[in-house]
Amino acid sequence: MLKQKEILSKIKFSSLLDLALLIPAQYDDMTLSEALIVGEEIVVLARVENVKKLGEKLQINLFLPKFKRVITATLFKVTPYHYTVFSVGAELFIKGKLTQFNGFLQLSQPKKITTIDKITPKYKTTFKNSDILQMIGRLINYENLKKEGLSEEEIQTILMLHFPKKLSDILSHKAHRSDIVKILKIIEAYNHFKKLKGKRVDFPPSTALTNDISSFVDSLPFRLTNEQRNVIKEIKLDLSNPLKAAKRVIIGDVGSGKTIVILASAVMALPSKSILMAPTSLLALQLYEEAVKFLPKSIKIALVMQGNNKGDHKDADFIIGTHALLYKDDLPQIDLVMVDEQHRFGTNQRNLLSKLVSQKDKKVHMLQFSATPIPRTQAMMDSALVDVSLITTTPFDKDISTSIISKEDLPFLLSCIRDEIAVHHQVLIVYPLVEKSEQIPYSSIDEARGFWEKNFENVYVTHGKDKEKDEVLLSFREKGDILLATTVVEVGISLPRLTLVVIVGAERLGLATLHQLRGRVGRLGLKSRCYLYTHNKQNERLAKFAKTTSGFDIARLDLEFRNSGDILEGSMQSGQKFRWFDMANDEEIVKNAMMRA
Ligand code: ADP
Ligand code: MG
Repeated sequence: MLKQKEILSKIKFSSLLDLALLIPAQYDDMTLSEALIVGEEIVVLARVENVKKLGEKLQINLFLPKFKRVITATLFKVTPYHYTVFSVGAELFIKGKLTQFNGFLQLSQPKKITTIDKITPKYKTTFKNSDILQMIGRLINYENLKKEGLSEEEIQTILMLHFPKKLSDILSHKAHRSDIVKILKIIEAYNHFKKLKGKRVDFPPSTALTNDISSFVDSLPFRLTNEQRNVIKEIKLDLSNPLKAAKRVIIGDVGSGKTIVILASAVMALPSKSILMAPTSLLALQLYEEAVKFLPKSIKIALVMQGNNKGDHKDADFIIGTHALLYKDDLPQIDLVMVDEQHRFGTNQRNLLSKLVSQKDKKVHMLQFSATPIPRTQAMMDSALVDVSLITTTPFDKDISTSIISKEDLPFLLSCIRDEIAVHHQVLIVYPLVEKSEQIPYSSIDEARGFWEKNFENVYVTHGKDKEKDEVLLSFREKGDILLATTVVEVGISLPRLTLVVIVGAERLGLATLHQLRGRVGRLGLKSRCYLYTHNKQNERLAKFAKTTSGFDIARLDLEFRNSGDILEGSMQSGQKFRWFDMANDEEIVKNAMMRA
């Protein structure tokens, strides 16, 4: 028999509540049946009246004293054992599924049982049920659950599920079942916070940062949105805390104005130096240009990337760069590290940057920015480990209409494209693949390219593996009309004149990816359109996607479709971590759990 500890660790359980939440998959019910219900398993006392051999089969007439009637049992696999057990006159407890045939009650392949009036939970694990039963019996009890902080009602529910007295308590009617599920959700969320609470480690900061930013904010050519203000306020509290280095993720849709928040943070840090890492050269360059444009001239800004440096990073107040930063051994002392589009870096790269500039046991302040919206509920769940801020609005009301189109709409689409180009706007067409493939029923870039180049001018082409991708995008931004691409353009480069995007084979993409692609157009508030090209216009996911433009709503939708078993490309960060808790809908529950833990 495996030791308890070994089982717990193999099963990846680290808390008592993990074990408590291992709810039986089913129950083996050995309580005597109160009624004979056709279609159900019954457990009854029976007296063997008569045994008849029919070819391979054995047919037995059984008298059931409690019900005062005779039923027929049929055994298909007969062994000598059966002859002893089912000898005429014997009285025994049996279990089997009751069926009806020509008006006669029958039991097929009944089993003799020795223990009655017992309900045995069946746990779905890779271990022996008896081992799990033993462990649960030893650890799951009133006192232990109380110690974990569960309420009376929660304790009773858990005990009932593991040690049921009557199955009807659990299985009876629907409303009751949903009560049980709700309690399990609460315990699950509570357990999550309780476990993470011990895991968050905070360090003192290298220094508290408190520079005033009001003149910077006043100098901007626009008013900050309320959410930008709120996030900046949260960051201010973080950075000025002398006891705890900041550890915050700021999540905001594409175009929600995160760059200004980054710049404001760099100003707040002065006279300390800060560093900002971006996932691509193009983005780093764009951030650099924005920094130069918006920050006061007195701030020295440097750009570090392969083959293109600007300013002297050893002497700069604000260093912007790509992962090339990770290979610099002459970075000055830095007190604030920021990472833009953080989801495009590995954890290692992000940690390396902060390690690179940290001093011994003091940590630099760390702010990360992400354009992958997550449902509010998940943000709350994550907040146990890291502070999370959400920016859910954009400074411009984006005016993007989304339509689902098919082959027959092609002439219409072409005329839309001509209209946009005529007013000096740009068009993006996203293909699923570069090369032709038998697996995918849509054109690839290679197949479609000729058509566009024949009918239009200034057609540019790029894709994920394209080494000249950045150059292509830069010249397209200046001179292009139409860009043919794969999903590569997901990277947050800004193409302000882009007003029309066509996504070919849209139903094949995850909602998060579709959202990123659609976010490319209308960045400065120009009226824009997104066409989802598909062979299946009835697609429900696409229909729902077309109705909303909020990344946070879409993240929720995405989860709902995922929960309903719809597995798609472009998977989200957290997997199926919770069995009862539903990220898409259980916001109230997570609030409660957070406060209790
Ligand atoms: P993202 O969150 O995707 O990084 P950006 O920071 O690039 O978004 O902002 C998108 C655009 O909105 C930029 O052109 C930026 O200058 C502009 N912007 C940011 N904040 C505001 C604001 N409060 N009012 C008007 N425009 C803004
Ligand atoms: Mg950005």
